[in-house]
Amino acid sequence: MRIAKSVKYRPRYEWAEGLRSRALAEFIGSDLDACLEAFRNHSAFYARRLTGVSRWQDIKPLDKEDFASLPVSTDGQTYDSRSSGTSGFQVTVRNSISERRFRQALAYRPFLFYTLDDIVRQVIFIDGIQVEDANKKQWPFKFGGRTYLTWRVGIAAPAEQILSLLQTVRPHVIRGLSSGIVRFIDEVGTRLDGLGVQVVSPSGEHLTPAWRVLMGEAFATPLLDRYGTTETGPIAWQCPFCGDYHANSDEIILEYSPEGLLATPLFIESQAMLRYRPGDRVVMHTQEHDCRIRLPKLTILQARRDDWIIDGLGRKVSPLSFQFEQVEGLRAWRIHQLKSGVLRLYFDSETSDSKLGLDVRRELASQLQAIVPGREYELVAGIWKLERGGKFKRVVSDIATG
Ligand SMILES: [Zn+2]
Repeated sequence: MRIAKSVKYRPRYEWAEGLRSRALAEFIGSDLDACLEAFRNHSAFYARRLTGVSRWQDIKPLDKEDFASLPVSTDGQTYDSRSSGTSGFQVTVRNSISERRFRQALAYRPFLFYTLDDIVRQVIFIDGIQVEDANKKQWPFKFGGRTYLTWRVGIAAPAEQILSLLQTVRPHVIRGLSSGIVRFIDEVGTRLDGLGVQVVSPSGEHLTPAWRVLMGEAFATPLLDRYGTTETGPIAWQCPFCGDYHANSDEIILEYSPEGLLATPLFIESQAMLRYRPGDRVVMHTQEHDCRIRLPKLTILQARRDDWIIDGLGRKVSPLSFQFEQVEGLRAWRIHQLKSGVLRLYFDSETSDSKLGLDVRRELASQLQAIVPGREYELVAGIWKLERGGKFKRVVSDIATG
């Protein structure tokens, strides 16, 4: 018995049509009893976890700490990515290649409802400092009758370099990390409303109202946000018709709990998650709505949003510049910038006194100095010693950055 419904049962070229028609059809929730049984038969891990459980509501949620013990079963190659997540704990997310592709299709679902040309040029703001060349070789992505051409820019790249690419490419869509797009707008100091951008579609961070206004006004175009987590994939998207967030509830069972959202993705079998609690606070709407998109609605109350850090020259450093996930032996980290400017990096490593522990310290110190030059720093073992910020912040600053 399989958990996944959509991902394997139809040819890939039908994904877009399936996702479109199910968004427009009256929403029918999943059969929770059948789903519980599917998990029971999935692996010894879930058989054990579900011993004595007969009702969905009685299933113990999975927390981030449990994530590392999830069994991974795939027939072939897996695609791994690391998440730093809301609690500061890192997890490794493993999807099969076909699950990975389906996640991508789900991420493109909202674009099925935007008014765009058949050939869409998009620029994506990602981690890093590289800006791709306007003449780069393209690997066009075809989805829902459109062809997408993509350029990526690192959020820490010089603003003039990003601007030059935008002026050459004239993208229809701006996507990617909100804080990086905001930093670019702040630094570039020139009008962007003549570029012809038709949609700004950020993701990856909880938006403040101020960021929404800033991005929408800068490009003089609607801003339509997307919400998801590295572990579960795309969860919800802001609707071009009603402005609210519709949830991908046909692909992910989403439940409200006082301790945070519970998500059960139905398209991930290789690292199956049952009632996973990513740490975000979200309310599902219970009232009827009359939008033509029939998927249920939700409101995000609190999700990850980190502060900016200020380096020794007074420049803003995006909280997403830190890529400590790649440091071998590091389990979790948080940063606190004190009013004095000093950086305090809290960390948990697999072992603190061995050679690996020393290597972790050395690596953290060298990366921190490269990313935030000109600041003193302290390394402190134990992430929970930083009480401020709690679950929703990994990078906290006492220096106001507006
Ligand atoms: Zn809507």
